[in-house]
Amino acid sequence: MATRYDLGREELTSLLVEVAGKVPRYRVDQIWSGLYEQMTDPAEWTSLPLGLRETLTEHLPMALTPVTESVSDDGSTIKFLWELDGGSRIETVLMIYRDRATVCVSSQAGCAMACGFCATGQAGFTRHLSVGEITEQVIRATVRARSVDRRVSNIVFMGMGEPMANEARVWGSVERIHTDLGLSARHITISTVGVLPGIRALSARPLPVNLAVSLHAANDELRDELVPINTRYPINDLIDTCADYLKVRNRRISFEWAMIDGVNDRDSDARELAALCRRLTPAAHVNLIPLNPTPGYPTKGSPMARVQRFRDLLEEFGANATVRWNRGTDIDAACGQLAAGQPVTVGISRSRGISPQ
Ligand code: SAH
Repeated sequence: MATRYDLGREELTSLLVEVAGKVPRYRVDQIWSGLYEQMTDPAEWTSLPLGLRETLTEHLPMALTPVTESVSDDGSTIKFLWELDGGSRIETVLMIYRDRATVCVSSQAGCAMACGFCATGQAGFTRHLSVGEITEQVIRATVRARSVDRRVSNIVFMGMGEPMANEARVWGSVERIHTDLGLSARHITISTVGVLPGIRALSARPLPVNLAVSLHAANDELRDELVPINTRYPINDLIDTCADYLKVRNRRISFEWAMIDGVNDRDSDARELAALCRRLTPAAHVNLIPLNPTPGYPTKGSPMARVQRFRDLLEEFGANATVRWNRGTDIDAACGQLAAGQPVTVGISRSRGISPQ
């Protein structure tokens, strides 16, 4: 059965005809405002007749059952663990900053991309999320932000899963977030490991969302090890596809780079990375994230001095870079740590030669 935020306006109208007979158009408007403005349960939509409220409660079930909520950084980072129909679990993170509040959403339960340093990748793939399951994460986080008088301003598809392996449903939720929740597409970022058909499909979509690419290595030999999908979609094709994306969407692309001690933090890595950035116009911006610890990966994040030096080198070689300080590491809410409580195999390493020599 479709869940509360799966249905578009027309689908909702058809559902109403089926379960409540013909309903005047202003009722649909009231329901829509209950869903996307009040964000409350049908029982609270008192402008509707009681019978209709009861029918809606029955036919518009929520998709996410709360399991736990963990709080860190003095209350400014909140991680939600949800259970889905069928029993799989996913996580959502709300990050409240001085000038904005960002929701990091999951697009799949688990992930099939198998990046060895990422906890979600270590746990493997369970299933795609529906439009409603993705959208409801944003709704729930928005309600939580409102409880501390804050408004959600940014959405990042950087939670569990590979959004571009589930492009159509991710796009369905982007449209909801943009049209029904009123967030500008410029405040929505989709992060991908580099699933090229997904990036191409995204180029053909009408809204100018931001694209982030999880690069982590600037030559195929190393990237094949760190990001296994690279064997299918190698760096050269990835950069060409990014260039095509830029032709239709003139938004700067960012490259994510998790800094792994002795693996991808050498001077030569900075030089190669800067050269890739410069192939795009406007040049790609690099986000440096010191690697967060995960149970299944032996290598550590680069020391802080190395991260700073790498950033300076990138600038010297003509690329812009920002160091992203992590949030929520103590509650496993930081980049690459979302595993939804799933056991990950300790000590697995799909890659060879990744430990520091
Ligand atoms: N699958 C998509 C969306 C996930 S975004 C993607 O890969 O882009 C999560 C980001 O955190 C990605 O850039 C990912 O490579 C990065 N990441 C994964 N594990 C990490 C870790 N242990 N430390 C820091 N960043 C990590």
